[in-house]
Amino acid sequence: MEVLLADEYGFCFGVERAVEMVEDALDEGVRPIRSLGPLIHNAQEMERLGELGVSTIDVPDEADADTIAVIRAHGVTPQVQRDLEGRAAKVIDATCPFVTRVQHLAERAALDGRDVVVAGNPDHPEMIGVVGYAPANTYVVRDASEVAALPQLRSPLVVSQTTIKLKTFLEVAEAVRAKTDAEPQVVNTICSATRDRQDAARALAGQVDVFYVIGGRHSSNSVKLLAVCQEQCDKSFLIETPAEINPADVENTQRVGVTAGASTPNWLIDQVVSRLHELGKQAAA
Ligand code: SF4
Repeated sequence: MEVLLADEYGFCFGVERAVEMVEDALDEGVRPIRSLGPLIHNAQEMERLGELGVSTIDVPDEADADTIAVIRAHGVTPQVQRDLEGRAAKVIDATCPFVTRVQHLAERAALDGRDVVVAGNPDHPEMIGVVGYAPANTYVVRDASEVAALPQLRSPLVVSQTTIKLKTFLEVAEAVRAKTDAEPQVVNTICSATRDRQDAARALAGQVDVFYVIGGRHSSNSVKLLAVCQEQCDKSFLIETPAEINPADVENTQRVGVTAGASTPNWLIDQVVSRLHELGKQAAA
């Protein structure tokens, strides 16, 4: 049985960077480390980090003078950052640079007295953080239909949540044109990590008999990866650990595909691949 990995899978740049920053601090003996919100949407990785001394807090008030606080890849508002810096011994800012770019674009536009329209989910932590950089001027819209309800816009900047679909962003930008006299400044701030993983899974799905997507059941990018695989491979499964592989599903199988969501660590992917090789050897014996 052949086990084939998709060309792009697992940790995106921002999540990998955040985990490395925390691991570097652990290596320096820094403790206790507390992440504001879960550092990563993967229960197994959170458990591993927990054993090393990393825990989660929900609000800056839970940090104390001994705490090394971590801002995760989604980023936070400037006010929350100040609150953390005021309470914790040290703050590790692991905001993904792609998110920082959106924050700074919104901040600069607002300082120039311009309005900002962000295509995204207003309840997502990344969006809450971005709005904090330009609270009086920023409108977050889920899609083009929500633009109609906005007031007339002043020299607007249009940007996007890093993980939304390009089509949604372009439709929002088009709708904004009808809401202003000046040509809007449109800056595509979508990060390619999600799309790259989906494209790679799609390319592999037609070549395999069974496909495993490794990721949390509540991780939206993992659930979307599963949907992409299912378009071409009926036997596609979302699993969190190798223990969830049902040996009967890979019996008499020639080729198995594997991919993983952007929050799935490599060690977990290695465990799944090893288990599949083991099952393949058992079947051949
Ligand atoms: S998905 Fe993209 S923007 Fe979000 S953390 Fe990963 S690399 Fe950064």
